[in-house]
Amino acid sequence: MSARSRNAHLSKTLYMRGLQCLKSLWLDRRQPEVRREPPPDLIARWDAGTEVGLYAQQLFPGGVEVPFNGRTKVEQLAQTRDLLAKGTQTIYEATFSSEGVLVRADILRKTRDGWELYEVKSAAGVKPHFPDDVAIQYFVLSGCHFDLRRAFLVHIDTGYVRRGEIVPKALFAMQEVTDIVREKQSAIPAEIARMRKVLAGELPAIDIGPHCTNPYECDFIDHCWRHIPEHSVFDLSGRGVDKWDLYRRGIVRMDDVPLEDLNSAQRMQAEFHRNRGEHADPDAIREFLEELRYPLCFLDFETYDSPIPPFDGTRPYRQIPFLYSLHRQDSPGGTLRHSEFLAPPGKDPRDALTERLLADIPEGACVLAYNKTFEARVLKDLAERFPAHRERLLAIAEGMIDLMVPFRRRDIYHWRMAGSYSLKNVLPVLVPQLSYEGMAIKEGKEASLAYHALDKIEGRKAREKAEEDLRAYCRQDTLGMVKLLEKMRALAK
Ligand code: SF4
Repeated sequence: MSARSRNAHLSKTLYMRGLQCLKSLWLDRRQPEVRREPPPDLIARWDAGTEVGLYAQQLFPGGVEVPFNGRTKVEQLAQTRDLLAKGTQTIYEATFSSEGVLVRADILRKTRDGWELYEVKSAAGVKPHFPDDVAIQYFVLSGCHFDLRRAFLVHIDTGYVRRGEIVPKALFAMQEVTDIVREKQSAIPAEIARMRKVLAGELPAIDIGPHCTNPYECDFIDHCWRHIPEHSVFDLSGRGVDKWDLYRRGIVRMDDVPLEDLNSAQRMQAEFHRNRGEHADPDAIREFLEELRYPLCFLDFETYDSPIPPFDGTRPYRQIPFLYSLHRQDSPGGTLRHSEFLAPPGKDPRDALTERLLADIPEGACVLAYNKTFEARVLKDLAERFPAHRERLLAIAEGMIDLMVPFRRRDIYHWRMAGSYSLKNVLPVLVPQLSYEGMAIKEGKEASLAYHALDKIEGRKAREKAEEDLRAYCRQDTLGMVKLLEKMRALAK
């Protein structure tokens, strides 16, 4: 091995990247300019992860942090050595290096039995790749002759309900991974050697595969997948056929998929794509329409979630509604009325939103949502919070009708829906004048980020514009449902 390959520096992040794909490791070091910029929602997740890390430190308060911002690795290593020499019992972000691999331990704590390592994750459980993350830390610490007795993964406990201040001991759950991490030690030197060899050579010939999204979505997808055309086998909906098997057999374009390999839903998608076909089943649509009654309400919520429950009575990762749009029609062909509510950011939106919502939905109304599981879940969470309104909220949730059903059943299908029945795919095809193109906010993730950004906007006009962008997005969803229903009525005739 050349000196260059022997000396290639690795970190825990690079090691995990290399385990997922050696080409990704090579591109990261040698051709980083082809990397995709992290999308705003991923940056928001990283920020949330930092907050989770700070709460996790409170599990073992009184520790000393080794800061890494603005400090060199040499300084971080020296400070860690210094803290250990002084007998510090709890260290956050302790930094170690061995065999050219650098790791930072989220939390190191000395007990009567020896040192314990805690790796903090903002996930709601332990994922299969998490122990590898701890194993490389264990390997490096052992290489530094550090006597690590036990290792744990710390993750969010979604059963936690906030009451007052966050209670870290209740917010987090722990799983000991000492044994599995020890078992992984023997394979690590070979993995490191393999990664160094790759880094010293030319771009490895690794094709795309399931590893591109597992365990993480790779940030080189735009680069590596550029040979995949629009309308490919990867657009086939659902499970059914093994798309990677098709790809390995050289079948990439949707037009070339052998129909006999597909399940019925996929075959319909492929056939309709091939023939540029469309279809509507008037009997099935009529049956669906017969369920509806007046007054008719079209409801859509915008929500956000967070690993750290922001308000009393909220749980980790539960959706918190901050905006709704409601279109209402009291009789067939009657006037369409609209109401909406956008909660001011920074405080619990649920009280005011619930009061307004219940005032806007008439008693006994027939409420439609698109993908009602989501709206019904939000209503049930509100019912849990407001016992006084529980009965009505649950009645709305349980009586809700899902406008998505005829599209999921493919009572109505058009090849340009590309096997999807999401509103974002269905609406532009059936009601092209309501396309999301050109809107400032085009999807739910953007809406929740825009809501959190409202507080930071300076200037009344800019803030009003941002609020209107949010309302317009949500309004588009419910108006889209109104127009879809009109289209369905026409197709049923
Ligand atoms: S996109 Fe896939 S093949 Fe390309 S570097 Fe990433 S994981 Fe590897």
